[in-house]
Amino acid sequence: MGWAIAIHGGAGAILQSLTDSHRAAVEQALPELTEVGASMLQNGATALDVVEKATIALEECELFQAGRGSVLTAAGTHELEASIMDGQMGKAGAVCGLRTVRNPIELARQVLERTDHAFVGGSGAEDLAKAWELDRVPNEWFTTERRLDELRRHLSDPDASRPHPATVGAVACDEKGFVAAATSTGGTTGKLPGRIGDAPLINAGTWADSRVAVSCTGIGERFILAGAARMVAARMELAGDSIEEAAKRVMASMPPESGGMIAVDTAGKMTLPFTSQGMYRGWANSDGDSGIGIGP
Ligand code: ASP
Repeated sequence: MGWAIAIHGGAGAILQSLTDSHRAAVEQALPELTEVGASMLQNGATALDVVEKATIALEECELFQAGRGSVLTAAGTHELEASIMDGQMGKAGAVCGLRTVRNPIELARQVLERTDHAFVGGSGAEDLAKAWELDRVPNEWFTTERRLDELRRHLSDPDASRPHPATVGAVACDEKGFVAAATSTGGTTGKLPGRIGDAPLINAGTWADSRVAVSCTGIGERFILAGAARMVAARMELAGDSIEEAAKRVMASMPPESGGMIAVDTAGKMTLPFTSQGMYRGWANSDGDSGIGIGP
């Protein structure tokens, strides 16, 4: 069977604020980040391992808004969230309200593996990271000059600041035909402390089952109301949609410029639709089809 991977670094009003140097940095990073998962799949890794490692690489890259380089809340702090789901086991792990966990997706994976729960938040999640000796950092470690600027602009004129892409994610189909999905984020610039978006919500921002794996990005509240990630799987199962039709229809069911999603099915077919100006994305498969994109 063939393998396939797609990654995203967020969807939104990317293009008007994209400087030449930022574009060059992103265009260099996206193929390297896609290759993290592609080389693992080539060597027989499972889809679940691949989406975790690919998402850790995205969290560690401060060009994208998860882990270091995450956006700030209205209070000037970081509250991180992530989720991961394995289609073969039908199991998920999700975390939210994190302040010190360097790689939220790693904690989500540990919740999947080591607990009977699917979702752990706040101080309880922090305590698990401590007990399991995951890497922890001071909250300010996540801050970059770029995100501080964005928060200042947002606070001085909340109406003028268009939504910024603020999430990363990965979906993969391994050589056995199993799929998995992962999503990690700092949320949205200037969010209320305590606000939880779609990224850590299984069904909304992340889904994987015996058909398809999906990771979403965009205006989280809309993806929550649409149950977007799960709806792609439901359309395939109940309406007989192809993966492209299902993802496109779910995106079209939300208001314009809501964001985007990446999806892969168990035959390794990928789709990466978005209704916003752009979505940072990369993909590769065992047939040698690979690429990256920013705008349409
Ligand atoms: N979906 C994320 C959230 O609402 C943000 C994004 O993807 O840009 O928290």
